[in-house]
Amino acid sequence: MNGLLGLVELDSKDLIGILVWSNFALSLLVFGYRFTRNELNEKNMITLYAHSRLYQGIAWLLLFLRGDIPIFVSRDIGNVILFTGFYLEALVMLIMVKYLNKLSLRIESLILIISSIGFILISADAKDQIFVIASSVIIFSIFIFPTVLYMFSKSSSRFKRYIGLLYVIFCSVMVLRGIDAHFENMSLFTVNYIQNFSYITLVLLVVVSGPGFLLLAKEESDKALVELATHDVLTRIPNRRYFMDRAVGLLENHRRHKHVLSMLFIDIDYFKKVNDTYGHQFGDKVLIHLGNALTTTMRMNDLYCRYGGEEFIVVLSETKVDGAEAYIQRLTEEIKKTSLLKERFEYTISIGLVSLIPEKHSLEEVIKKSDEAMYQAKMNGRNQHFIYKE
Ligand code: GH3
Ligand code: MG
Ligand code: MG
Repeated sequence: MNGLLGLVELDSKDLIGILVWSNFALSLLVFGYRFTRNELNEKNMITLYAHSRLYQGIAWLLLFLRGDIPIFVSRDIGNVILFTGFYLEALVMLIMVKYLNKLSLRIESLILIISSIGFILISADAKDQIFVIASSVIIFSIFIFPTVLYMFSKSSSRFKRYIGLLYVIFCSVMVLRGIDAHFENMSLFTVNYIQNFSYITLVLLVVVSGPGFLLLAKEESDKALVELATHDVLTRIPNRRYFMDRAVGLLENHRRHKHVLSMLFIDIDYFKKVNDTYGHQFGDKVLIHLGNALTTTMRMNDLYCRYGGEEFIVVLSETKVDGAEAYIQRLTEEIKKTSLLKERFEYTISIGLVSLIPEKHSLEEVIKKSDEAMYQAKMNGRNQHFIYKE
């Protein structure tokens, strides 16, 4: 071996041996990790990944035993199990980027089935290089779709793209390996840079994408936890606690720059009657409807929340009375525009509006003022807003 170059001139049979052990090890780790999760979808995804690694381990074992076991078992069955393992890994990747649907599942399954049958149908005494070309093309086709999504889908996080980069390298190596095998008579155990590099990339994938997958799964469940802690379960909009935390900072900002902000205290009119007439479930739908209307009308720097039962608060940053009234107009139109399921059902809201520079007012004081103004709007006959005056 000559220095650093020896690192890529490793014996390919040894590299395959490493792939056997590392895939089994990763599969064990992931099966174990499954016990720490509670959510069913997450558990299923983790199980799928553990299986994908188990299949890959078994496949590499069969390929490793080339010469000691019947060639059909080692080469044909071995490769089909390998494709299945890669196929399961591709499905997990699709789940991670939220692209596993009927269509993508069908495409991936079709690639797997056609490839596997095609691979087995290659004449048993064809040259080894034909099998190398075929397997390279098949593995490339299995991974290219999820890899592209990993890199470019909007929902992909930076970390996902980072992991995706390794799959890009792997897909590229598969292309090179296929082209190379076309010109050179090579087989599974041929020591050749491209062939070895494809094994090395696979080892890297086990080491990086394995734990990477677990971290990504954790990233997802952490996100779900944060969502649960900061958002209202029914309407899916920010909850009171999250709002209070953020609003303190927003108020402080306006105090420092002496900017006016507007707070709206929103309460649905005669909501008890809605519940009594149409049922509590329909009442819930109305709450969700109002939550959606707020979400669609909200600007980037504004804050809102479900403050309590059928009460919502909106804070419009750097907005004076006229701006706030324009907003109220938009909100009311939005509520009217998007109809609810029940025929001719309409609900109205009463709003207390406070516009001020929060000089020495605490958040609680501003909320209290807006609540008082809302009460005035109710007194004045509901379905309107009332502007707070000192
Ligand atoms: P007003 O015009 O004076 O506001 O009349 P109102 O009937 O809306 O009066 P009030 O604010 O006292 O009523 C609040 C009602 O909201 C009572 C409660 O049953 C209902 N409510 C609170 N939370 C929920 C919820 O999560 N779902 C449903 N469906 N109803 C809720
Ligand atoms: Mg109320
Ligand atoms: Mg009410």
